Amino acid sequence: MPNTRFKALSESRTRVHKTIKETGRRSEMFGKNVFNEERMLQFLTKEAFGKVKSAIFQGNKIDRKIADQVAEGMKAWALSMGATHYTHWFQPLTGSTAEKHDAFFDILSDGRAMEKFEGGQLVQQEPDASSFPNGGIRNTFEARGYTAWDPTSPAFIYKTTLCIPTIFVAYTGEALDNKAPLLRALHAVDEAATAVAQYFDKNVRKVHATLGWEQEYFLLDKSLAHSRMDIVMTGRTLLGNPAAKGQQLDDHYFGVIPPRALSFMSDLEKQCTKLGIPVKTRHNEVAPNQFELAPVFEEANLSVDHNLLLMDVMEEVADKHNFTVLFHEKPFAGINGSGKHNNWSLATDTGVNLLSPGSTPMKNLQFLTFFINTIKAVDTYEELLRSSIASASNDHRLGANEAPPSIISIFIGKQLSDVLDELEGVSKGKLSPQEKTELKLNVVGKIPEILLDNTDRNRTSPFAFTGNKFEMRGVGAKTNCAKPMTILNTIVAKQLKDFKKEVDALIDKKSLKKDEAVFNILREYIKTSKRIRFDGDGYGTEWQEEARRRKLSNNKNTPEALQVITSKESIALFKTMDVMNEVELNAHQEVEYEAYVFNVQIEGRVLGEMVYNHIIPAALSYQNLLLENIKGLKEVYGAAHKKVAESQLNILEQLGEHMMEIKKLTDEMTAARKRANGLSTTERKSRAYCNNVKPYFDTIREQSDKIEKLISDELWPFTKYRELLFAK
Ligand code: ADP
Ligand code: MG
Repeated sequence: MPNTRFKALSESRTRVHKTIKETGRRSEMFGKNVFNEERMLQFLTKEAFGKVKSAIFQGNKIDRKIADQVAEGMKAWALSMGATHYTHWFQPLTGSTAEKHDAFFDILSDGRAMEKFEGGQLVQQEPDASSFPNGGIRNTFEARGYTAWDPTSPAFIYKTTLCIPTIFVAYTGEALDNKAPLLRALHAVDEAATAVAQYFDKNVRKVHATLGWEQEYFLLDKSLAHSRMDIVMTGRTLLGNPAAKGQQLDDHYFGVIPPRALSFMSDLEKQCTKLGIPVKTRHNEVAPNQFELAPVFEEANLSVDHNLLLMDVMEEVADKHNFTVLFHEKPFAGINGSGKHNNWSLATDTGVNLLSPGSTPMKNLQFLTFFINTIKAVDTYEELLRSSIASASNDHRLGANEAPPSIISIFIGKQLSDVLDELEGVSKGKLSPQEKTELKLNVVGKIPEILLDNTDRNRTSPFAFTGNKFEMRGVGAKTNCAKPMTILNTIVAKQLKDFKKEVDALIDKKSLKKDEAVFNILREYIKTSKRIRFDGDGYGTEWQEEARRRKLSNNKNTPEALQVITSKESIALFKTMDVMNEVELNAHQEVEYEAYVFNVQIEGRVLGEMVYNHIIPAALSYQNLLLENIKGLKEVYGAAHKKVAESQLNILEQLGEHMMEIKKLTDEMTAARKRANGLSTTERKSRAYCNNVKPYFDTIREQSDKIEKLISDELWPFTKYRELLFAK
């Protein structure tokens, strides 16, 4: 193994960075490999184009005849681009993407060969679904699932394959993926938000959720990353003594991007631009070898697809540049982990951002309506929102004093808090003309100015208002954004639906004017959702105590956080909003428990192998060296050798203790794993892994790091932190 380490080190030192030529403007390159509107106009009949547009805009079904026409057009375009294969591109519950390529090439009955792609193949496929996680949805006699075209996310060509974004569902219709529930949630929020937006503007016909993610990641030299079995198998380091230098000098954040990383980024951005991913920002992040990439925001479903595609493309481009990219939320102890902030808002088809104040009091009341309803939704369903970002890997981040805590709260800043305080004082029922004028001029009317200098940002908040959008910061770097986006849009949809009902009731039954009714309901929401607002330090222990008093949930680990998914309230919510039924919720929860168990189990196994087969043998080698040396000294010095060999004897003793301890702990961990595996349900297993197995990881690591510090560098089998993190 030391050989592997030193070989990797010497390989990493010989790297030269590839020069990436900029071939033309990004704007000209943008979407070149996407079957977008421009291509559709060119390759589709007018009729087919119109039908696809109405499918995108109104969710209308596309019949077989039109599907044939679209398939014909897509095929012609794909072949003109040199594509040879097509695939239904989907998001099984593994968290990443899946694809199975089929060639366009086919043999006709008369033996001639030709390129074939028909409506049927575009619209629906039946991949062998039995090996994807299904949480028990598919019983054995009906193990089939199918993928179905999602026309709202355009097809694209990646390398030589035409990729068609699809949902993945069981034959009985239940979602086996992350996209189907997301599409349903987006539909729900569209319906609910459109109805509310029409209070303020009758012309609004559609509202779509917008998402702009910020992807953080680590770049490691490929040989170095591959020299560590923990990185290869689990995406993170399970042990490793911290380097003398970490991020304490703050010399990486926003620093000059190292040339090798920069050529990777340029190459990546070119690929992304062609694929229609509007990448915009790149910079160094806080930790050494950590970076961030952010695009311009897009409609949420498309944005989710683009993030998944980006992660695939990144892995591939990284490999080309002899890098390994890590999306794990906590690849290294002692330095920052990686997140994926989800910036979210709602936009109308009339071009208005509903979380952005406007130029008239009415527009600002609209802003307040969506702003306060979002706060109320998060307050009611904070625990559910927390569950959407739970995973074994993100557990290392949430609540670990670098990312937002596992308690969900909302930061809105002092000025907006003052506005809400004022609104809380609005009279019940009808408002006097003076009160109305006062509200319009001095409270609602002042909002745009307030937001202009609303710059005090609280980085510790998990859900922060940042001027014209909310930023959800607890999302893990690896997480499929579809999960938090499904929950967030569902709860906001439910809240807006309730709001509309309440306002309408006041208008109908109490004959209040529309704005009076809106003010009245908002006032109540401000009162009842106060506990979720917190502008202070989210990292402090005081907040944990305060949050407990406020009865906010604080689920520190995944097994705890997942429970709420199948609570009575959650089941009712998802059912009313037509997002998921009980079977789906149970299945999705089961898959999450299972993923947790597997992840921790794999880590436990890898750690065991590292200890028994690498660390203990390395320690033994060093022990033998010491013994050899001491024996020699004894030959020369006789009884006096004890004084001369004092430090060797001391090291020997320490080493013996750590070896004994690490062996004992690893034995215990293995036994705990066995016990956990024997439990009857996945939920129970996940708890056992969390509470009885995982704690050993830290104590084993402690011993390993001590041995690493003690023994000769030459004998240490695993590439060290300083070598991994400071290779450029
Ligand atoms: P920062 O927060 O770093 O100062 P910005 O405010 O420009 O930077 O935006 C950060 C991220 O928020 C970007 O990825 C951007 O695409 C996204 N974003 C901006 N406006 C919206 C919006 N209305 N809806 C969703 N995401 C948005
Ligand atoms: Mg960042």
